[in-house]
Amino acid sequence: MHEIHEGQCGMCAHFGEHHAEQPKLVQIRVKHEAPEDMLDECGHPRHASLHLQVTPLSSCDGFEPAQAA
Ligand code: SF4
Repeated sequence: MHEIHEGQCGMCAHFGEHHAEQPKLVQIRVKHEAPEDMLDECGHPRHASLHLQVTPLSSCDGFEPAQAA
C-alpha cells in the first residue's frame, strides 16, 4: 500500500468518477492509502474522451478534492 496525498488521483473527485461509490475507492479516500498496482479511469472532462487510465499516485492540474465518503 502507498500513502496518498491531497492532489493525487486517489483523492480526486474524477478518479473512477463513474463508479465513485465503489468501496475500494471510498477506502482510499478515507484511509489515504491505495495499492500500487491499481488503475482506474479519470473522468475529468478533458481526459474522459481519451479514456485516460491513472494510478491513485498519479496527478494533474485538474485535481478536484473528492468527498471522503
Ligand atoms: S488525472 Fe487529474 S483529474 Fe484525473 S483523477 Fe488524476 S488528478 Fe484527478
